[in-house]
Amino acid sequence: MGYDPQNIFAKILRGEIPCDKVFENEHALAFKDIQPKAPVHVLIIPKGAYLSSSDFSEKASAEEIAGFMRAIHAVADKTGVIGEGYRLIANTGAHGLQEVPHFHVHLVGGKPLGAMLPSAR
Ligand code: AMP
Repeated sequence: MGYDPQNIFAKILRGEIPCDKVFENEHALAFKDIQPKAPVHVLIIPKGAYLSSSDFSEKASAEEIAGFMRAIHAVADKTGVIGEGYRLIANTGAHGLQEVPHFHVHLVGGKPLGAMLPSAR
């Protein structure tokens, strides 16, 4: 399956749909999740057209990867979660229940988050 330029995050990047922006640099955009699962819930997305974590890791340039990781740090810093901690989640593909086919990392925090997964099975 190829990258679908009509996905909702591509539309946000093109300015066709608004977002509640938290941070932006040359290679990444971060905005609040529309259905927050924690007091802090921000999505960090690369500006390039990458379908998934695997697609990004395989094909993005070193500059894009660095810019993306720096954006994650900037969001953690700006939202004040570094001291108490936070969680990064990158749902990928069918088993990962990835809903939006543009690579994104969820940064969640602002409260104790509990176990990473409900069970080991
Ligand atoms: P995932 O299952 O990792 O693909 O999650 C996609 C996330 O995108 C969900 O948490 C949605 O709430 C969020 N989302 C979908 N549309 C928007 C939007 N327009 N603005 C902000 N977040 C969105």
